[in-house]
Amino acid sequence: MVLEETTKIAVSPAVQIGGSLFTPEQLAKIGAMSGTDAKIEMTTFKQLYVEVPLERRDAIKGELERYGLEVYPAGFATKSLIACNFCKGAEEAGLETARRLNKAIAGIETPAPLRIGYAGCALGTSEPLLKDIGVIKMRDTFDIYVGGEPKGLKASLAKLLVSGVAEDRLVPVIIAIIDFYKANAKGKEKFGKFVNRVTLERLQQIAG
Ligand code: SF4
Repeated sequence: MVLEETTKIAVSPAVQIGGSLFTPEQLAKIGAMSGTDAKIEMTTFKQLYVEVPLERRDAIKGELERYGLEVYPAGFATKSLIACNFCKGAEEAGLETARRLNKAIAGIETPAPLRIGYAGCALGTSEPLLKDIGVIKMRDTFDIYVGGEPKGLKASLAKLLVSGVAEDRLVPVIIAIIDFYKANAKGKEKFGKFVNRVTLERLQQIAG
């Protein structure tokens, strides 16, 4: 028997009010497209890792996207934006900004997996300070934190990189940080270690 070669795709729902919500149709579609023996894993970063046949990967991606799902590479890439539930409403919590940010950052190939969090207010219920990069909306501007590490005995909170970032500067600043990380990481260096090595001050120059 020849075993079919498989690959993993990362599937997430749209950034929306209410958080990471799947519709019953979307879940049914994921099940139907992946096949009866496929492994479907719930990750800690709010993406489903779905095992699919390698040769049908692109067709499955297209079909899931038609159902309003987002499909990204698994593994060494930026995860889709880990956003809050926008409980304060689309406008006050910055839903459109979060969507724009998600579109700009999700699925970029990186030296190690990169998690970017977003919170629509300082209550930070999406735990932005435990992400590699955390964005918090503060009234009309945004604060950006870097280097959060939730794992291991040396778990640590992200540090404030820059505050008062205007809405139209948010995506360029985050992209500049990711580009700098990609260009200067040593091998598969994790982002938190990278921040400690290059220093917060250096990253502030990049973000400036
Ligand atoms: S971070 Fe703020 S706006 Fe977002 S869900 Fe939590 S309390 Fe609501």
